[in-house]
Amino acid sequence: MSSNNNEVHIEIDGIQAIGKPNETILTVAKRYGVYIPTLCHLDGLTPAGACRICIVEVERARLPVISCATPIMEGMKIKTDTEMLRKSRKMTLELLLSEHPHDCMVCEQNGNCELQNLAYEYKVDNIRFPIKTDKEPLDDTSEVLIRNPNLCILCGRCVRACKEITIRDVYDFSERGFETRIIAGLNQLQKDTECVSCGECVQACPVGAITEKPSFGKGRIFEFTKTKTTCSYCGVGCQMYLHVRDNKIIKATGVKDEVNDNNGSLCVKGRFGNDYIHSPERLTSPYIRVNGKLEKATWDEAYDYITEKLLSIKEKHGPDSIAGLSSAKCTNEENYLFQKLFRRIIGTNNVDHCARL
Ligand code: SF4
Ligand code: SF4
Ligand code: SF4
Repeated sequence: MSSNNNEVHIEIDGIQAIGKPNETILTVAKRYGVYIPTLCHLDGLTPAGACRICIVEVERARLPVISCATPIMEGMKIKTDTEMLRKSRKMTLELLLSEHPHDCMVCEQNGNCELQNLAYEYKVDNIRFPIKTDKEPLDDTSEVLIRNPNLCILCGRCVRACKEITIRDVYDFSERGFETRIIAGLNQLQKDTECVSCGECVQACPVGAITEKPSFGKGRIFEFTKTKTTCSYCGVGCQMYLHVRDNKIIKATGVKDEVNDNNGSLCVKGRFGNDYIHSPERLTSPYIRVNGKLEKATWDEAYDYITEKLLSIKEKHGPDSIAGLSSAKCTNEENYLFQKLFRRIIGTNNVDHCARL
């Protein structure tokens, strides 16, 4: 088959596929709807090739190759689901589970765990290796996350997410061989590191080794209704899923698709700052200060009061003595009307907003 510099022709499970130079086998397979299981891979992060779950067979290659980190080559013939591959992946899962507590019943990640899903898919009902039983303490010193090193499968997704997405570099691997583990900072408690509480590592972790603190124990993934919406904190307008149970927002997660500027990420406010919605301290009506004391008012009373005050200030000191600050939480249309009110009705250009904050 002829090829040009921008096309690489390969065959995956009998499907004729075209990729670009330097694309990996996994990327092209995904595009053609061919499923290859993964664990340490996360779209958008540098491939690590650490877990070996995504191995595939390539014709004439001596050994299976890691599909997440192997670039395609012209004429490659790839098989993704042979008996040998299934056996090898199953053994890798057994090895992982020999060092991992089987705590699914009480684990926060139950129902949303990539390891659990693969163990189910590969029917790992017997582990032929000695089971590790010693346990390390949890780190719950962060305000937003809990780290459980016992559940960590050393995939490195949190390390890469923090380094490549949030650019904080809080985590790293420490020690070697059986002693390998993930440390925060210089082997510090999470609260003492440079962590900015964005939660990107929570979202990246495929198991229950890093979980959110505010939503801990408030429900499993299958008990939530997931609604796609736009974060209203600032002008970026990140897309997010709100996970709702019993009419209460339990948590927020980023939406990863091609049309979003945030590409699945959220900042600390978008991810963890939604508790104000159900706060009993939240203001639900206007208040007017009477004789030095705030008193509850109706919206009509509040608008009358504002109008009267603005008119009297304008009359006494002129329109430029008044300024209006709008909010990034408003829609474009609301902000348009706000500036129009100040420019046309009050007669000043003193209008600004907080979208840059
Ligand atoms: S991390 Fe996954 S496999 Fe491990 S206990 Fe939790 S749900 Fe089960
Ligand atoms: S919460 Fe954000 S900054 Fe903190 S460790 Fe995780 S990814 Fe890094
Ligand atoms: S904490 Fe989670 S994301 Fe990080 S290495 Fe362990 S399993 Fe992977």
